[in-house]
Formats: sequence, structure tokens, C-alpha cells
Amino acid sequence: MATTRTLNKSRQRDAILNYLLPRKDHPTADAIYNAVKEEFPNISLGTVYRNLSLLAELGIIQKISCGDNSEHFDGNPKPHNHFICSECYSVIDLEMENIDFIDTLAATNFNGKISGHNIYFYGKCPNCLEKEAN
Ligand code: ZN
Ligand code: MN
Repeated sequence: MATTRTLNKSRQRDAILNYLLPRKDHPTADAIYNAVKEEFPNISLGTVYRNLSLLAELGIIQKISCGDNSEHFDGNPKPHNHFICSECYSVIDLEMENIDFIDTLAATNFNGKISGHNIYFYGKCPNCLEKEAN
């Protein structure tokens, strides 16, 4: 019995990862739940949340809080910068030069030790800009 449960748990986690890893659109837990539910009709939103939180804690994926009161998830755990659309809350990867020097800037008048930063860029995404133009 225990073996079956463990197997199911890891199969659920694999299904979540298989859905998330190839994506570039930073889906919410709800969106991931709706997709994984097709393969695992008995899976609960709570289980999806718990797995996503665990995977984020383990550094396999990352969690992005972007102001629309839902967390988005990113299959790419490496540090990179994000743009968040203030209109539609799309989360988009920014291809830009490394800005890690801001850690040094931030440390200038600070006696503690800075080990990283978390920056989100805001504005209008290309889709919303185009909609506005039409
Ligand atoms: Zn937008
Ligand atoms: Mn990303």
C-alpha cells in the first residue's frame, strides 16, 4: 500500500514537472492543476500546490509572485529577469545583460551581507500594446 502511494505521489510530481518544464509562460498553480487533472482526475489543487512549493524549495523550479494574488511557476530555476504586464499579468522572460552589479550597489551603505536580489520589471506587454493600438 505504502509503495503504491509513494509511486502515485512521484508520478503526480513527474506529471507536474513534465507539464511545467518545457513551458515559457509561467503558469499559475490553477492552470497547472487544470492541465495535470486530465492525466490524474483525482489529483487535488492542494496536492498540486504542495508539490509546486516543494519543487520550488528544492530549487528545481521557481515561484514568482507578481501582484495578481496568484503565484506563477517557472520551470527554469536559473536566475533570470522577468517582466510583468500591469494589464494582463503575463510573466515574460527578459533577455538582457547581467545586472548582478546591483548587489554591490545595494551593499554600498549597508553593513549586512547581500547575497542576491529579486527584481520584476513592470509595464505593458507586446500583446496589450498592440490591443491598445487597434
Ligand atoms: Zn499584457
Ligand atoms: Mn522565467
